[in-house]
Amino acid sequence: MLELEAARERILSLMPPPQPERVPLEEAHRRILAEPIYSPHDLPPFDNSAMDGYAVRAEDLRALQVDSPIALRLIGRAAAGEMFDGEVVTGTCVRLFTGSAMPRGADAVVMQEDTHTDAASPETIFFLDAPRPWENVRFRGEDVKAGALLAAERTEVSAGHISLLAAAGVTEICAGRRPIIGLLATGSELLTAGQPLVPGKIHESNRLTLATLISDAGGTPKIFPLVPDSPGETRRAFETAFAECDLVVTSGGVSVGEMDFVKSAFEEAGGILEFWKIAMRPGKPFVFGRRGGKFLFGLPGNPVSAFVTFLLLVRPALLRWQGASSVGLPIHHGILAEAIVNPADRRHFMRVTVDGQGKVRGAGMQGSHVLSSLAAANGLLDVPAKTTWPAGAAVVVMRW
Ligand code: AMP
Ligand code: MG
Repeated sequence: MLELEAARERILSLMPPPQPERVPLEEAHRRILAEPIYSPHDLPPFDNSAMDGYAVRAEDLRALQVDSPIALRLIGRAAAGEMFDGEVVTGTCVRLFTGSAMPRGADAVVMQEDTHTDAASPETIFFLDAPRPWENVRFRGEDVKAGALLAAERTEVSAGHISLLAAAGVTEICAGRRPIIGLLATGSELLTAGQPLVPGKIHESNRLTLATLISDAGGTPKIFPLVPDSPGETRRAFETAFAECDLVVTSGGVSVGEMDFVKSAFEEAGGILEFWKIAMRPGKPFVFGRRGGKFLFGLPGNPVSAFVTFLLLVRPALLRWQGASSVGLPIHHGILAEAIVNPADRRHFMRVTVDGQGKVRGAGMQGSHVLSSLAAANGLLDVPAKTTWPAGAAVVVMRW
């Protein structure tokens, strides 16, 4: 049996380089950058006010004493978006708002709350506080200098990156193309949604689940019709899916029974197999294969096994295919609210819930067919074989 980490390394090492494409910033969220992005200009682009107030020469107010305000003459006004084209000379000030460009000659902003005016002489502003030079001024380029790196190649674009890129005037990024992922579910017992339940049959759930996880990982899922347990139909399904998709994910049909046709049908369809029994629960049997420059991920049919093996082995591959450097699930440090026991001799990825206080609990029954605990869970805990962790233990939860 292979360790999960070794299987994942093998898969990642075979992923092709990303295929760069231009993407408008509106569609850039969560895309993986194929090129670094540099700032076209300084940010902020000009010195500007951090407050609603008055631009002054700090020196004019240096002698200010408590209880004896200093008066300056108001010579103009620049709303945000406007420029004051005069100069603040000794004894004068200019009305500004947050984001207004600093007028020439001024070297500080006094906030409005530290001034008062007299209706009888609106051209005179009384200052109650003396600013330090450059107080309340946001400098041109203090956030980002023109030409500086805004986001590195291979990073995933976050909402924060969108804010930075948009502010810097970037309208387009270069990102790894999203792979199209064919989804095949094998099993003669499977019914599509809406078909009436008949004895011996079940409603199929893996394709929709995997499609959701694929979209979350930046891929474009393509759902194919159900594949009955037949060698010929399985082979034909592979031929269609590989013709139309970059990667193919199957569920079911990878165990050792005589009705498990995924491996043989894939080979008949021209694929080259690597098949592993991975030392983990759920999801021991796992098929990885190559066909031309494309790849097959054959997941076990049990829905929890398909879910967990997808997250641990397929999701990293999808992200790497798009060029991502970081491909692991986000992790969360928590504290066990109750003991967690893995009596088995295989490592168990247990479904857990993490609450708002970081307390971690088992999510319910852990059988690989139990979906109520999958729905309740918001994380996985990697528990080694024959291990008991007591309540209060610090743990690392993988989230999705
Ligand atoms: P298999 O891996 O094909 O032996 O299937 C293992 C278990 O998972 C069986 O109980 C199947 O009925 C079930 N199963 C397989 N595929 C699906 C699917 N797409 N949706 C729901 N259950 C499935
Ligand atoms: Mg089956």
